[in-house]
This record gives sequence, C-alpha cells and structure tokens, in this order.
Amino acid sequence: MSRYDFDLFVIGAGSGGVRAARVSARLGARVAIAEMAQPGGTCVNAGCVPKKLLYYGSTFAEAFRDANGYGWDVLPPQFNWNRLIQHKDREILRLNQIYTKLMVDAGIVILYGKAVLTGPHSVLINGKSYTAEHILIATGATPVLPNIPGANFSITSNEAFHLPQLPEKIIIIGGGYIAVEFAGIFNGLGAQTTLIHRGDLPLRGFDEEAREVLAQEISKKGVQLLLNTEVTAIESAGGQLNVQLNNGKSESAGLVLCALGRRPNTESLGLETAGVLLDKEGAIIINRAFQSNIPSILALGDVTNRLQLTPVAITEAMALASTLFANQPTEVDYANVASCVFSQPNLASVGLTEVQAREHYGEVNVFRNSFRPMKHTMTGINEKTFMKLIVDKATDRVIGAHMVGAEAGEIIQGIAIAINAGVTKSGFDSTIGIHPTAAEEFVTMKMVPR
Ligand code: NDP
Repeated sequence: MSRYDFDLFVIGAGSGGVRAARVSARLGARVAIAEMAQPGGTCVNAGCVPKKLLYYGSTFAEAFRDANGYGWDVLPPQFNWNRLIQHKDREILRLNQIYTKLMVDAGIVILYGKAVLTGPHSVLINGKSYTAEHILIATGATPVLPNIPGANFSITSNEAFHLPQLPEKIIIIGGGYIAVEFAGIFNGLGAQTTLIHRGDLPLRGFDEEAREVLAQEISKKGVQLLLNTEVTAIESAGGQLNVQLNNGKSESAGLVLCALGRRPNTESLGLETAGVLLDKEGAIIINRAFQSNIPSILALGDVTNRLQLTPVAITEAMALASTLFANQPTEVDYANVASCVFSQPNLASVGLTEVQAREHYGEVNVFRNSFRPMKHTMTGINEKTFMKLIVDKATDRVIGAHMVGAEAGEIIQGIAIAINAGVTKSGFDSTIGIHPTAAEEFVTMKMVPR
C-alpha cells in the first residue's frame, strides 16, 4: 500500500494535464486532478477550439462573395455576432462536459479549486491537504499585456471570445499566431482591422518567403498592416482608444487587442515553497523526463514554455504516463512538429525554414510554386497559393515544407507524416497526384531548382 494518497496529482485540467491523468489512470495509477475553471484548458476554452469556430464563422463572408462567380445570387448577408458567440459557447460547454465525463469514467478524482504545492509530495486545495508520489504541473500560460501606459484599456484573446458585440474597428498589436489569426477573424466578419507589429513581417520563425506571401495576402483582404511600428501608449477618449505609435502618429479604434505572447502560469502555486526552479520567463525548468529540479514535481505543456501547442502537450503527457506507470521511459522528439496559423489564407509549415536549412545543411535545393487556385479562376479574386519544399542536397531528404493557401493546415499535416518518416524529394516525385487539387502541386515540383 502506497504511503501517498495518490500516485499522481495533476494541477491543471487542460490538454496536457487531462491526457496525463487519463493515460496514467488507464495504466493503473490512482490519479487526482485539480482545476480552477472549466476542464479543457486554453485549447478548449480560450484557444484552438473557439478560435477555429470563429475562424469558420468569418470565412463565410468570402464564401458568399465567391458564390457569385459560380452563378449564385446571394442576398446581402446579415451577420449576427451574438448568435455566433452563443453557438460557440454551447459547443465549448459540450466539450467541457465530455472532458469531465472522460475523467470520471477513468476513475480520476476531480477537485475544483486552486491547488498550491506545500512540499515535494504535498498539495493543499480547498483547505485540505493531499499527498502524491508524483505531482504534475500542467497549468498552461496566460496572455501578457505590454508594459506601456494605458495597456489596461486593451483586451487579450481571452476577452475576444466573449465580446458583447463585434467592434466596428479594431487594432491588434502583435505579429504572432494569435494576432494574425484574430486579424483574419475580425476582418472577415466585417470589422475594420489594423494590425500593428514591431517587426518587418508577421510570424517571425516561419519561412521568410511564406511570411512575405501571407503579409501580401492579408493586406489584399483588407487588413491594414503597420509594420516596423511600436505602440508607446494607449489612451481612452470619448469612447475611442487612441494608440500612440513610435513614429509620432496614432491610430484609433473602439477596441484594442494585444497578442504579445503568453506567460507560463507559475505564480502563487507554491513552487518556491517546494523549491522548484523557474527560468527567467517564469517557466518551470524540466529535463527530458519532465522532472523539475525536485524529481517528484513534473511539468509539461505551456507552463514549460517550449512549443506552446496542444498536440505537443498531449504527446508529452503520453510520454510521461508511459515513463511513470508503464515502465517505458519515453522521450519526446520535438523535430518536425508541424503547425498551422489559421490566418486567411492559412500558413502551415513543417521542418526547417530555408534560412535554418542553409545554416544546418549548407547546400539545399529549394522548390517553390505560386499559383492562382482553381476556385478563384471563376471568382475574380486575386488570391495566390504558395508552396515551398526544401531539400538537403546531399541526401535528397525533404527537410522543410511550407504553404500559404486554402487548407494549408490540412495539406501540411499529410506532408508532415512523410517528412517525419524521412521522405526524399524522389519520393515526392514518384507520387502520383490527386487531380485537380492544390496539394498535387507538392508532388509536381519537378522543375530545376533555383
Ligand atoms: P507569439 O509568441 O506567437 O507572438 C508574439 C508576438 O508578439 C510576436 O510577433 C512578437 O514580436 C510580439 N511581441 C512580443 N512582445 C512584444 C512587445 N513587448 N512589443 C511588441 N511586440 C511584441 O504569441 P501569441 O500570443 O500570438 O501566441 C502564443 C503562443 O500560442 C504561440 O506562440 C503558439 O505557440 C500558440 N498558438 C498556436 C496557435 C496555432 O497553433 N494555430 C494559435 C494561437 C496560439 P517578435 O516576433 O518581434 O518577437
């Protein structure tokens, strides 16, 4: 009989925490999970899922417009923000309930409240103390606000999901995933949208050419891009917010959304009491077995500030459960993690950018294609799809794939499997395409590389 109340005590019922709890329970562990809000964490409640639902909602505007070229006369469409938000909330509630049921069915003890570490093996929640052999911190991350005067007048993505009405005009500050995705959503839904970013292109870290193409495409769709521009202050006057810029100019709108990254949720968790070390961003420092410097205290997902992506947290959770309770020490391979920015159009990517590939491999072959998607031959819309493959010259292995265009996330997901399995460019070339698709262009890039 264990001297602890639980084999695993998880703090945070988000994607990583719930998966770790469920798999561990299935492997026979006695598991408790603590959660302060609704189960599902950022992904379900204020991230991937509601974002994708709003994204879908916003793409209808283009669909109505495109329909005309195909013979449809569509009455001027009317959009109802409250209906979209209500339906989104209903779906999120359904997912919350599914998460709860899955945990209950797995025999996990769910404790609602704020859990605080009181030692390497002990947690206090709702005035009651529990002990566990392993404690997993999976508390995720929170959007940050800038350190400028008037930052409190702005909102973050958390609030964007619950706005009482669609803003007529919105300023979005930032150039990462969230900024670009929300720019597409609000612009698509009809808000006049300005994106202000300090860099020369949004989405630092993605392939340069893909970033350029995306910036052009989102500008064409009507998002005003102010690049190489910093916000120095936000002022509120007469129901408007005035955003002061470092070039002496200003922009105003009814709403300002900051999307400037997310800070790990490590405050007031008792980590200091337990002696857990954090990095300078406040993230829990862990080894490849997810252990902090206190071996019984583990962490994974966004709170460790590595790749802040749901599927990464889930993969880490399964590796952790196998390591702890299946006697199978498992490490996560972070190479070739594909991701998609649900911008309009999507930008999706797997593997290295061209710059990274040249740094790591020296000589690389780059294949690219840019074309007008077939659908738009009849809509009159001047939208470009861009695709790029990067190949290691010495081995012919494909080491990067990038796409800007409709359904890029769906297409790159398939290509990520091939790249992860070590596919060569000849492997792409010998694949017969599905015609007519955009994706087939990835297997017909046979031209002499630049
Ligand atoms: P990101 O880290 O993606 O982007 C942050 C942006 O804010 C960057 O453009 C950065 O500029 C800018 N920035 C940071 N600090 C400042 C500052 N002080 N002043 C001006 N600009 C600043 O963060 P997000 O908030 O967009 O998203 C957080 C994470 O969530 C993402 O990194 C991603 O991992 C995840 N996510 C994933 C999604 C997906 O998979 N589709 C969707 C949404 C989020 P610079 O580049 O110059 O540093």
